[in-house]
Amino acid sequence: MSKRNQPKYVFVTGGVLSGIGKGITAASIGNILKSRGLSVNIQKCDPYLNVDAGTLNPGEHGECFVTVDGAETDLDLGHYERFMDIELKQSSSLMSGQVLQKVISDERAGKYLGKTVQIIPHVTTSIGDSIIETAKGFDVHIVEIGGTVGDYEGLSFIEAIRELPMRVGRENCVFVHVVYLPYLSASGEFKTKPAQNAVRELRGLGIVPDVLAARSEYEAPDEAIEKLSLFSGVPEEAIVQLPNAKSIYQVPLTIEDGGIGKVIVSKLSLSKHKPALKKWSNLVSRATDETAPIIKIGVVAKYLNNQDTYMSVFEALKAAAWDRNYQVDIDWIDAEKITTSNAVKLLSHVDGIVVPGGFGNRGLEGKVAAAQYALKEKIPYLGLCLGLQMAVVAAARNAGLEDANSVELDPNTKNPVINTMNDQRGKEATGGTMRLGNYPCKIQKHTLADKTYKKSKIQERHRHRYECNNDYRDDYPKWGIDASGVSPDGTLVEMIEAVDHPFFLASQFHPELASRPNKPHPMFVGFVSALI
Ligand code: GLN
Repeated sequence: MSKRNQPKYVFVTGGVLSGIGKGITAASIGNILKSRGLSVNIQKCDPYLNVDAGTLNPGEHGECFVTVDGAETDLDLGHYERFMDIELKQSSSLMSGQVLQKVISDERAGKYLGKTVQIIPHVTTSIGDSIIETAKGFDVHIVEIGGTVGDYEGLSFIEAIRELPMRVGRENCVFVHVVYLPYLSASGEFKTKPAQNAVRELRGLGIVPDVLAARSEYEAPDEAIEKLSLFSGVPEEAIVQLPNAKSIYQVPLTIEDGGIGKVIVSKLSLSKHKPALKKWSNLVSRATDETAPIIKIGVVAKYLNNQDTYMSVFEALKAAAWDRNYQVDIDWIDAEKITTSNAVKLLSHVDGIVVPGGFGNRGLEGKVAAAQYALKEKIPYLGLCLGLQMAVVAAARNAGLEDANSVELDPNTKNPVINTMNDQRGKEATGGTMRLGNYPCKIQKHTLADKTYKKSKIQERHRHRYECNNDYRDDYPKWGIDASGVSPDGTLVEMIEAVDHPFFLASQFHPELASRPNKPHPMFVGFVSALI
């Protein structure tokens, strides 16, 4: 058993190239450790200079994941929450901008007592402090370093985790390096050289890896692993192969089957409890069942070329479908192309429509048109944040208020059915100024929201600037909608639904963030069930 108060650390770094699934690997290690009954926390260190992920373009960087306490973070935190079924906090997301901001403000406050302030030791110690603080109270703390080892901007994080064993004990640390084994189809060989070099690069920075996770397109032959072991100095039993999987949720099982769970717990002298992975493997069977019937869902989106942009929405849809033994076929529909006149043509092939969150006015008219179509044709509709706002505009327009709009789309609209929250005025371009994180919501009895949640009080995560304009709430019955979820004091609309409709539900919050692969969110289960 781990000594109380002394958390153990698992550091996850990546070599060769980025985008090979380091986040999934870290999350999977969290999964198998948690399945042994250990309490596990996890933290992502991101080398870019942003202070948080709120200002990053989701089309380039992927979705911004929001924690219950309102931190705007990297999408890897979403993987962590889904794989480990935990709720993370702001402290699980550390970015260079945050670290530097703190060090510089401490310098300005004279806290360094006249010393020269330097990357080493001041920045690296600050990173180490944050890691140690975040680990407090847990058996194991996993720390993933973003980017690839050797990247100029990531060096202070690598140096920080090199120093950390001196503060917490080398015997309490495991270093996992994720590398890539390219396959050369011309010669039919797996090449280990890039991985060898990646390990050498890491050693050159003072870190000797204990475990290697070798990503590849296909399973490599034993000789490749023997060679990798010889050149890297990592024993074969501490190398796990991670060939492309049918589902990312297979990865914890592959890592466990590869014996890595055992390697980590024995290196860290943790309890030897057997992992309880039965439920998880049931989930994987459902997720990879190719014989399951398929439902087709149209996601009306602005960004169309990056899967990561709507990661949590897609995962929540899939989870809900798996729960009902279905698979989803997600069709991305370009919001910029949809108009009220072509909506039938562009949308009639899907069983249901999702309008996810988004910012800025590009594609907004198309989202309104999609909602107008779903209302009129009684097509199941799920609106997430912006999807609620556009649904309110749609309902108003369908009822004859043709110039109804959101001020995000038209700041001078005569009928601003969605407008700016008072305390957000003038801050439209700044970071960290939205309504963020968990807020309570009261659900009205005998509504679809009530039937969906089977609860009268909920808490969900927010990230938005605009709200339903209360001046128009009395018109909702006329527009055929109902504010079925409101803030406890009744002043903010949290959920709306169409009254005479099989399933038209939208929320000002983001339910997708709380969905889990094996505990799908009720709004998604409700939506998917309506399609079935
Ligand atoms: N852009 C809208 C707002 O700021 C919706 C935000 C969202 O969908 N997350 O309120």
